[in-house]
Amino acid sequence: MAQMVHDVVCGMSTELGEWTEMVEYKGKTYYFCCDGCSGAFKKSPEYHIKNFAEDHPDLMPTPA
Ligand SMILES: [Zn+2]
Repeated sequence: MAQMVHDVVCGMSTELGEWTEMVEYKGKTYYFCCDGCSGAFKKSPEYHIKNFAEDHPDLMPTPA
């Protein structure tokens, strides 16, 4: 089964490899649907990671 990645800014999900926008943060790679989302993440990564974790406590946004 394909690994899923989650855009922590807009909440969209897709299979790993579908999105080319990615940002490295604290040793993890986060994937985004578009450069608007990756740009928002770069401005306030902690905010978006925390927000996503609160909305989706059962999901890891990015493969380990
Ligand atoms: Zn997005």
